[in-house]
Amino acid sequence: MPRKLFVTTALPYANGPFHIGHIMEYVQADIWVRFQRMQGHKVNFVCADDTHGAPIMLKAEAEGITPEELIARVNESHKRDLPRFHISFDHFHSTHSKENEELASSIFLALKENNLIETKTIEQFFDPVKKMFLPDRYIKGECPKCGTADQYGDSCENCGAVYAPTDLKRPFSTLTGAKPVLKSSEHFFFKLSDPRCVAFLKEWTQDGKLQPEVMNKVQEWLGDGEKSLGDWDISRDAPYFGIEIPGAKGKYFYVWLDAPIGYLASLKSYLDSKGQDFEKYVNDPKVEQFHFIGKDIIYFHTLFWPAMLKFSGRKPPTNVLVHGFLTLTGEKLSKSRGVSISPQKYVELGLNTEWVRYYLAAKLNSKVEDLDFNPEDFIARVNSDLIGKYVNIASRAAGFITKRFNGKLTEEPLSAGRELFHKMRGQLAGAAGTPDDQVPSILFEVRNFAEQLAQDYDAREFSKAIRQIMFLADRVNQYVDEQKPWEIAKEAGQDAALHWFCTLYLELFRILTIYLKPVLPKVAEDVEAFLGIKPLDWEDVMTPLKPGSVIQPYKHLMSRIDPKQIDALLEPPEAPKDAAPTAPAKAAKGDGKGDAKAETSGPDFALVPPEPPKPPVILPVSDTISIDDFGKLDLRVARIVDAELVPDADKLLKLTLDIGIEQRQVFAGIRSAYNPKDLVGRLTVMVANLAPRKMRFGESQGMVLAAGDGISIYLLTPDGGAVPGMRIK
Ligand SMILES: [Zn+2]
Repeated sequence: MPRKLFVTTALPYANGPFHIGHIMEYVQADIWVRFQRMQGHKVNFVCADDTHGAPIMLKAEAEGITPEELIARVNESHKRDLPRFHISFDHFHSTHSKENEELASSIFLALKENNLIETKTIEQFFDPVKKMFLPDRYIKGECPKCGTADQYGDSCENCGAVYAPTDLKRPFSTLTGAKPVLKSSEHFFFKLSDPRCVAFLKEWTQDGKLQPEVMNKVQEWLGDGEKSLGDWDISRDAPYFGIEIPGAKGKYFYVWLDAPIGYLASLKSYLDSKGQDFEKYVNDPKVEQFHFIGKDIIYFHTLFWPAMLKFSGRKPPTNVLVHGFLTLTGEKLSKSRGVSISPQKYVELGLNTEWVRYYLAAKLNSKVEDLDFNPEDFIARVNSDLIGKYVNIASRAAGFITKRFNGKLTEEPLSAGRELFHKMRGQLAGAAGTPDDQVPSILFEVRNFAEQLAQDYDAREFSKAIRQIMFLADRVNQYVDEQKPWEIAKEAGQDAALHWFCTLYLELFRILTIYLKPVLPKVAEDVEAFLGIKPLDWEDVMTPLKPGSVIQPYKHLMSRIDPKQIDALLEPPEAPKDAAPTAPAKAAKGDGKGDAKAETSGPDFALVPPEPPKPPVILPVSDTISIDDFGKLDLRVARIVDAELVPDADKLLKLTLDIGIEQRQVFAGIRSAYNPKDLVGRLTVMVANLAPRKMRFGESQGMVLAAGDGISIYLLTPDGGAVPGMRIK
């Protein structure tokens, strides 16, 4: 019986192009989906742009465009990149759509009907200049614990303290610099603390389907007590880019409410377009619903989402399938940390996207583990495994078939087994001297892995599957080496044997192609054209190439990676001349507390593309000081003689400054705007008589001067001719 599968990935936030973390998640889900389709199962695989929330609204405003224009532009970039990486979504929709509006409203009204929605008045920071409530991400101030300036509203990057935005000392809005005021407003809450929700979630999460790591997390949140979940604040006040709550003017659904509903909206849009009944499909008990997500959004997907579905009278998901982040290491990358692998640059440099699919598959498993992208490992796996082992088999066999046999395969059946085999051996007597009874067994061996590999793919144990497939490719190559077809080819009267062996090699290659097809769809398509066969399904393992059929001349299926291409990929982008790059987006927190709606599965190295300049935030002038106050400052011209990254502090650079008479070490919060190597040698201005400050990483002996508005940073430079040590007055 074919399974009915409804599969999604997390929705990418529509504030920029895909980063490599998105691609990893899509590749993981796509491999799984392609495998299921090869098994004959019926899959609806959909995704959508996640388009609502304050960050989108503010970004559009800063660019001087409407949010609709912004999300349309990002949507275009997303839709362009998906086919480049062979991601086979059936439909890619948007949460800013009529389907999502309808579904969000109907789910909300059903929850309300079920007495699971209530309103409460809460106090929140409000920007009196911008006239809007501030999400945590847009509030900064001094850490209440260690006093470090310029810290976000939820945690300190210097001492690691976690707190509420209202605990910050000297808080300010990063939007206007204004001091936020506390203001109350009525918010809508989803009553997750309701005993019905708690009981349901305990049941839904504790039936053994969740990955063990996910289960541990969920257990922490659900606890053992009867009432451990807080109610969930699901509304935001205008101005907000989102879906207005029915019957509540000026109140909008929090983006995290309507984002997962976007899974259903995309499916509805797709099924509507095919004239199929959406409600019937999603409520069909036979439909299995799976969401591939990153580990940062487990909370939303294991608690809010199943409960929202259940108590609005819908079917909860079958499971959520969680992966870790992609990290970048290796010597090359540590030297240029902060540089990410940009999927757009990867394509523009002409790198084959199936290389990265293969590499990710070779590392992915069913655990919630981070996986490491190592450039040397990447090159080695593609060049020596994929090309050296797999592709090599076809190129070794195809030449003989084309040149010696006009592209025609042998008429002798490959499954002739032992009888034919002994006949061959007789013909080859004294030639090879190899244990020829491997002839039938190699085919048996390669076929025999079909079931185990199918289990591995289904269980998302891709790295295990790839290991086994490469083991089989090794076995086939070893077999070819033993038979030495190039020697048989030189012997008179051995044409039939050569013909039969080369056909067998192609058959073995065909089976390996089936095994790799979920990972390498384009290569598989090329192999199908080369062998002149219909699209391969999993069950075709047992249906050998037709005796006597004709193949096309062999063309290279895939080239090797030139390490220079990887060097170019990892080369840091040129810093834009007219605008300092903006600070990397703060990673989304999966605890549901933050209002930050960053990338849905953002690894810490996510590339933030250079953004157009935003209108600067100009603060009012401070209180007047006397000339004597100013005279206390000892400002000096300093040369930056060294600049390096600070481990575990993604905002800081460690600068070594030469001020003529001595060298100083200063930790400067300019990491977001400058690459260390670009700073070495340049002159700047430092406060030389600032009391040294002990930091987690060492002592900071002064401060460099930079212009900024809380977002962008511009380091000061004296005019030409100034030398280190000169005093500035
Ligand atoms: Zn602190």
